[in-house]
Amino acid sequence: MSDNAASSPNNLDAFWMPFTANRQFKSNPRMLVGAKGMFYNNAEGQPILDGTAGLWCCNAGHAEPRIVEAVSKQIAELDYAPAFQMGHPKIFELAARVTGMFPSGLDHMFFTNSGSESVDTALKIALAYHRARGEGARTRLIGRERGYHGVGFGGISVGGIVANRRTFGTMLTGVDHLPHTHLPEKNAFSRGQPEHGAELADELERLVTLHDASTIAAVIVEPVAGSTGVILPPKGYLERLRAICDKHGILLIFDEVITGFGRLGSAFATDFFGVKPDLVTLAKGLTSGTIPMGGVVCSKDIYDAFMTGPDNMIELFHGYTYSGHPVAAAAGLATMDCYKEEGLFERANEIAPYWEEAVHSLKGAPHVIDLRNLGLIGAIELESIPGKPTARAFEAFLKCYEKGVLIRTTGDIIALSPPLIVEKKHIDQIFDTIRTVLDEVA
Ligand code: PMP
Repeated sequence: MSDNAASSPNNLDAFWMPFTANRQFKSNPRMLVGAKGMFYNNAEGQPILDGTAGLWCCNAGHAEPRIVEAVSKQIAELDYAPAFQMGHPKIFELAARVTGMFPSGLDHMFFTNSGSESVDTALKIALAYHRARGEGARTRLIGRERGYHGVGFGGISVGGIVANRRTFGTMLTGVDHLPHTHLPEKNAFSRGQPEHGAELADELERLVTLHDASTIAAVIVEPVAGSTGVILPPKGYLERLRAICDKHGILLIFDEVITGFGRLGSAFATDFFGVKPDLVTLAKGLTSGTIPMGGVVCSKDIYDAFMTGPDNMIELFHGYTYSGHPVAAAAGLATMDCYKEEGLFERANEIAPYWEEAVHSLKGAPHVIDLRNLGLIGAIELESIPGKPTARAFEAFLKCYEKGVLIRTTGDIIALSPPLIVEKKHIDQIFDTIRTVLDEVA
């Protein structure tokens, strides 16, 4: 029996893997068995540099001692407590810590267990808010093409991914989509926020003209669309969306599941872009990926609108068994301590110019048709092989893994988002490996 027998089971069949080509994986598995700092370790004992912070979530790096200790202690002290008509101190503390990082006015936080739940929760709060104020005709939700908002029915409906429509068919009704802001013909190889495309926000005015503002509840966008290939907001775009929402009494929801907690070198995209939404969805970096947890931050106006009835009445008929889980709360508090004490958001901001240079150093490399960056996010868009729209990037992913670097692909776009503890030497390793691999792929 090899040393790794315990962590490399013989039967891979039972686990139906999410978002995975199961048959291909099971014929050539890639097993991670440990992690520390910037690196995973695989079952073969090879270190794998984490170029993606897991799935955009391990912002503090792996096995961060503060988080490990806090979680271990919490599970022994108070393993579970309901948050329905009960409480425990740490979850109140975490809500105050997180909302304290937002501009004033975004003062309240509801807890979930994932980004998908955060999205569905935010959409439900938006609908209930309008009803609570006597504007119950505002039921229409507006998302965006190429938006990713998780996998709940609300999320896939406001999201703009054709595979969801092809695979599942049924979506929420009464949903419209703004156009995406990916304009390679105008913005290819832009550094940071692209110049062109702010006027795409005006499509919201068109939808208001079509449906009437009195029927529209909310608009949801990712400030930076991550999972569909890193699509950046053109300069002025988010400001324009905000202005149109204000004009028509439409709530603006920022899905900050990816951009939250330092990814752009500021606490939230809300600060980075200087645009204040009414609701913000969070997950991932909230616990640095260690324990599943998400949340929705909302404005004082929204919260107050629910606090008007008799005080013995449940104000929002919504919640999860694990809303405000004590172990997740402990992980979240330790994560916030780590971000603060290590200055990780500032650090991300300081290293971002080096990251930008590294991303754009791939200009002219084989197959590269666009490069994009913002904060510690990068995208390398490859020209697709005709009829095989994901093959080239996936081959690059496999080859990078063989060479000890974890990247992520969506279509023929490579997306990168390292932990915020990344150093220049790691950035060099990531891009040297990708450069070598691009020379090798078909
Ligand atoms: N929203 C955004 C913007 C995301 O990127 C993701 C996950 N990548 C989600 C929602 C869904 O989060 P989860 O997978 O935790 O449900």
